Amino acid sequence: MRLWLVLALLAPSLARAEPHPIPIYLAPAEANDLALARSAFDSWQRAAGDALRFVPAPEKSALLRLYWVGHGRAGGFGEMKPIEVNGRSGAAVFVNTEMELLGPEISGRARTDRLYRDSIVYLTCVHEIGHGLGVEHTAEYADIMYSFQYGGDIPAYFARYRQRLQSRADIARTDAFSDGDLAQLRTLHFR
Ligand SMILES: [Zn+2]
Repeated sequence: MRLWLVLALLAPSLARAEPHPIPIYLAPAEANDLALARSAFDSWQRAAGDALRFVPAPEKSALLRLYWVGHGRAGGFGEMKPIEVNGRSGAAVFVNTEMELLGPEISGRARTDRLYRDSIVYLTCVHEIGHGLGVEHTAEYADIMYSFQYGGDIPAYFARYRQRLQSRADIARTDAFSDGDLAQLRTLHFR
């Protein structure tokens, strides 16, 4: 028996797995930020292969909801709060779009470099959506799930991604995951 046939027999569920649908809701925002959030969802979906598929849904039935914070909020890039949706576990994630809340070094650079600003919003979306999927913080600076609680050069963390971009359009095709992030994603079992 040829090897490929053996593999096909051993893993029929993998071969025929249907993508796991996750209803998502994105709160209204300016078009550019919405597009950044969609690119972040797309990147997780790509990374998960056939394992999951994000499907737009009304807010009240969405298991994963993305909201924007800015004016009047304390500093911080984003956060995730667990929610319950019709008896199922879900998550509300909050992404800061107000660079002035992120300290003088980041806000100064974001003011003169739009792609740096967009990189921060995009990477925050990717990180918080990761939490929404159940991906844990790490202590590895290379990871998108790195926790800033471990310190390190935070402005440079975002610049590292920014430096990979030539144009705004590159964000949609430039994933931010490390090997560690992808390894962690593969351990998840989507409900
Ligand atoms: Zn986090």
